[in-house]
Amino acid sequence: MKKQQEITYPLGTRPGDGDVIEVTEGVLWVRMPIPFKGLDYINLYLIEDTEGWTMVDAGFSNARIKGLWDEIFDKHLKGKPVTRLICTHFHPDHMGLAAWVMEKWGIPLTMSFGEWTFGRMLYLEAEEEVPDYILNFYRQIGFTPAMMREVEKRGFDMFSKAFHAMPMGFVRLEEGDVLNIGGHDWSVIVGTGHAPEHVCLHCKDKNILISGDQVLPRITPHIGVYPAEPFANPLQKFLASTEKFRHLPEDITVLPAHNDVFIGLNNQLDFYLEHHHERLARLKAACQSPKTAIEIVPALFDRVLEDRDMGLGIAEGLAHCHYLIGEGEMERNMGDDGVWRFVTKKSVQEKVA
Ligand SMILES: [Zn+2]
Repeated sequence: MKKQQEITYPLGTRPGDGDVIEVTEGVLWVRMPIPFKGLDYINLYLIEDTEGWTMVDAGFSNARIKGLWDEIFDKHLKGKPVTRLICTHFHPDHMGLAAWVMEKWGIPLTMSFGEWTFGRMLYLEAEEEVPDYILNFYRQIGFTPAMMREVEKRGFDMFSKAFHAMPMGFVRLEEGDVLNIGGHDWSVIVGTGHAPEHVCLHCKDKNILISGDQVLPRITPHIGVYPAEPFANPLQKFLASTEKFRHLPEDITVLPAHNDVFIGLNNQLDFYLEHHHERLARLKAACQSPKTAIEIVPALFDRVLEDRDMGLGIAEGLAHCHYLIGEGEMERNMGDDGVWRFVTKKSVQEKVA
């Protein structure tokens, strides 16, 4: 993990709630609280345009964050309006207030097709009772009766509650699109793995990358498998995505959605490869005999996960198993109890041993 230490934080400070820091001329860093334990804050950005401001991500939807945005709009926009909203991806800490911002300023939402449709789908499918399809997914990955009761108690409308409303239309962004903001070109790089079609924005003139959740300092972005795509291989997609950022300059300033503005993009990408391959090696060793998604969690994490982190940990574990299945190194078999078990292939076991 030595490469992590080479990352630097050039601003040496961070904005407080409802405040901003100018990263460079015409680019403001906003920090907003989010009500998720362990994540706490999200970074959002405002880019000055000729006639107004482009906002990158809107924040989680609650009354306090709306109030903080109103203060920022009053104090920091030099009397100009917000004229464009870009959302990097559909997660509620990024997109929750998109509809509110759109209504407030009378502007469209700009994002990728995959993120908009997936977010809208999850928002609209809310139901009071958890559907059988979802319950079966959790049963098949080995949730205990107590864990199943928790799933049922949570209900199936948590996602829709995290949004002010879900925008009914959008303006599409695609890989390679170039937006001119304030006389500077910002090009779109689409990452995958954390979310289906995550938009990052690169400005060559300013030597800046707005990376959203695709590249984060200090931590690895969450890469998980969920019921909508139970056999997905998001870790393969995430690791392949790291290559899309390799052409960027070594000294580029990265503006991430969590933690602090940093320099050291390539080091962080190397760290992701190292980290996940080290976890994959642990997993191959742990699955010498068949294991459920729950039984593999202790092999993947150095700390004991609290209950609230367990769901994320299991989703990450599945992502690592599916990566090894994709590489032909692991098998998934359904036991007599209706639960999937993962086992390292015999030929690989001999090599691991
Ligand atoms: Zn995210």
